[in-house]
Amino acid sequence: MTDRITNVAVLGSTGSIGRSTLEVIDASAGSLRAAALSAHGSTKLLLEQAQRVRPRCIVVSDPEAAKRQDWSGLPGDVELLVGPEAIARAAADPQIDVVVSAIVGSAGLQGTWAALEAGKRVALANKESLVVGGPLVTRLARERGASLLPVDSEHSAVFQALQAGRRDEVRRVVLTASGGPFRTYSQDQLAQVTVEEALAHPTWNMGPKITVDSATLMNKALEIIEARWLFDLSPDQIGVVIHPQSIVHSMVEYRDGSVIAQLSPPDMKLPIQYALTWPSRCEGPAAKIDWSRAMQLDFEPPDFERFAALGLGLEVARSGGTAGAVVNGANEAAVAAFLDGRLALNEIVPACRSVLENHNFDPNPTLQQVLELDGWARQEVLSWICA
Ligand code: MG
Repeated sequence: MTDRITNVAVLGSTGSIGRSTLEVIDASAGSLRAAALSAHGSTKLLLEQAQRVRPRCIVVSDPEAAKRQDWSGLPGDVELLVGPEAIARAAADPQIDVVVSAIVGSAGLQGTWAALEAGKRVALANKESLVVGGPLVTRLARERGASLLPVDSEHSAVFQALQAGRRDEVRRVVLTASGGPFRTYSQDQLAQVTVEEALAHPTWNMGPKITVDSATLMNKALEIIEARWLFDLSPDQIGVVIHPQSIVHSMVEYRDGSVIAQLSPPDMKLPIQYALTWPSRCEGPAAKIDWSRAMQLDFEPPDFERFAALGLGLEVARSGGTAGAVVNGANEAAVAAFLDGRLALNEIVPACRSVLENHNFDPNPTLQQVLELDGWARQEVLSWICA
């Protein structure tokens, strides 16, 4: 992969990860090329991106949004594809080498699926792909000889630390969590958190859904489930530690007691770049640690009582089957309800637990089944709110 151009499809190019991916590609001195971009409704930004990077094609998955946009400024050599099915077409294009799956939420599963079916390398930023369809997605990747490389900073750290030893030498994986902006809040304070407060994350600058997930620690719950499938770990091998500085992105503890960690400033451009250039490491635009300044790294065990999402995540990782799809769908609906002012922050996790307990568990679901359960779980949250 050294002297040839790597063609990248960026699914979700207008979101936080998508924009950072384009920065990494811009800084690659031509070794990476954005060959396809997709957005759901942010057509104005997508058009600007297309004018700047000149991909082979762009996809607008929302046909209504595509209709509202004036495309007269689209360069003649950029093909415009419309509709959700077009995402799969762009991902499976034989010219594409790597697919960055960065569409937020369970909507991202389709693009991941199509890319894996086509045997691509997938740089996975969409954790929901594995939370919702973990056993199905990893089996598909194996069958098609496709590779799944993590973009999530914690999983990228684990992936990097796993290169220090053999898989059968791993005792456990420790995911770090910043603890979110309400790390020190009491239960009562958590009940009063406003949307504005929840959207101000201390160390990471991300989209609204993942920022709310960081405040409830549901993000860490989803990452526990993601790690279980991505690295084929037993849930008992996955731990979480609170690390407010977000410098150590996660660790692998080996059976001799050695702990291998990956450190870097909180900047998604590094894990994105590593997933695009692996197994090579290249110069890049990500921030570097300044060792000339004093720095403190703190670690503390998480409070499972105040942050019930963590226990829920471990439970779902143990159950497997349909549990991930249900909790994820319920959480997406609950976060939307919180952002609309219809649900308190500390009600998100109880709503998800209630929906999980009310569903008909199936240990070996089909893709169709998990997608249906995703819709069902969203509806159940709405009923839970009204009840
Ligand atoms: Mg993460």
